[in-house]
Amino acid sequence: MSHATTAPVLVIHGGSGVIRRDLDPTREKAVRAALAKALQRGYAELKAGKPALDGVTAAITVLEDDPNFNAGKGAVFTHDGRNELDAAVMDGSTLRAGAVAGVHRVRNPILLARAVLGKSQHVMLVGDGAEAFAREVGVPLVDPSYFFTEARWRQLQRALKEDREGKPHSDPDTARHFGTVGAVARDAQGHLAAGTSTGGMTDKRWGRIGDSPIIGAGTYANADCAVSGTGWGEFYMRTVAAHAICMRVSLMRVPLERAAAEVINQEIPAMGGNGGAIALDAKGNIATPFNTDGMYRGWIGADGVPHVAIYDDEPDAPSDEPADDGRAE
Ligand code: ASP
Repeated sequence: MSHATTAPVLVIHGGSGVIRRDLDPTREKAVRAALAKALQRGYAELKAGKPALDGVTAAITVLEDDPNFNAGKGAVFTHDGRNELDAAVMDGSTLRAGAVAGVHRVRNPILLARAVLGKSQHVMLVGDGAEAFAREVGVPLVDPSYFFTEARWRQLQRALKEDREGKPHSDPDTARHFGTVGAVARDAQGHLAAGTSTGGMTDKRWGRIGDSPIIGAGTYANADCAVSGTGWGEFYMRTVAAHAICMRVSLMRVPLERAAAEVINQEIPAMGGNGGAIALDAKGNIATPFNTDGMYRGWIGADGVPHVAIYDDEPDAPSDEPADDGRAE
C-alpha cells in the first residue's frame, strides 16, 4: 500500500475540565484563536511534507507560548511556588519516544522532549539533568520568572489558603490542572505521532509527575493509532490510558471512537477520575472523548480549515465509524 497521497490530519487539545459557559468572551476568543493558530502552524508543516512529529511539535509550541494554557508560559504553580513542566512525544512509525519531567527553565518542553527522542539514547530525562541536556543540544532556556502569570499565581494562593484553613478547594480539581496541551497527527506518508505538554496540577508537591510525560499513560503512538490525554493524571497512569486505547485499536481491532470512549468515558470515571483525550487512527478517523464539561480541542484535515470546539454540544470531527461515544446515559 502506498501512502504517497495520504491527506495530512492534525488534532489538538488545550485541556479538559470544568469550563463555565460564562467563560469571559475575551478569553474564549483568545483561546479559540490560539487553537486555530496552532492548527494552522502544525498543518503547514504536514502540508510541506514534513513528518507527523513536526506537525505535533509545531502545534504544541504555539500553545506552550500562550498564557491561556497550562503548558510552557501558562504553567500552573507547585506548592512551593515554582513551575515544573512535563512533556513527551512519540513517533508511531518507529516507536521512538522522548520525554522530560520536572523542568524549570525550558521555554518549550516539547522541543526538549523532541530532542530527547532524536538526539539521545534515552526516553525520559528529569529536572537538572534534562536542563543540562538542553544546554548541550541548544534547546532554549529561560529564567524561571518567565513562567510567572498572575492568574496562575492567584490560583495557587487560593489553594494554599484553603489548605491552611482545612477547607476543600473551591476551584474544582479540574480547574487546578486545566489547560494541558496535546496534539496527534498523520503525515503525508501515513505515519502517526503524538505529543503532550503540561505544567501538571496547581499545588502539586514532592516532585509529583503526572501522566503527560509517561509514555503509554498520557502520550502514545504506534502505526495504527496516536493519543494525547488530558485530565487527572493519576488515573491515566493507572489505566495506562493512551496505550490502552491504542492496543484496543491495534490488537482487538476495535474502532477508534469506541476504543477511546471505553477508556476515557468508562474505565477512568469508574475509578473516580476524569478528563479527555484526542485520538487519531491511520485511516484518519478522529475521536475526542471527554467526561468533563468541556475540552478545548480542534482539528484540521483535507479542507485545510481549522475547526475549533470547547463545549460538549459543539460538533465533533466527522468520523466514518458508527456514532457510539460510550458515555453512560
Ligand atoms: N494530565 C495532567 C497531569 O495530571 C493535567 C491535565 O491534563 O489537566 O499532570
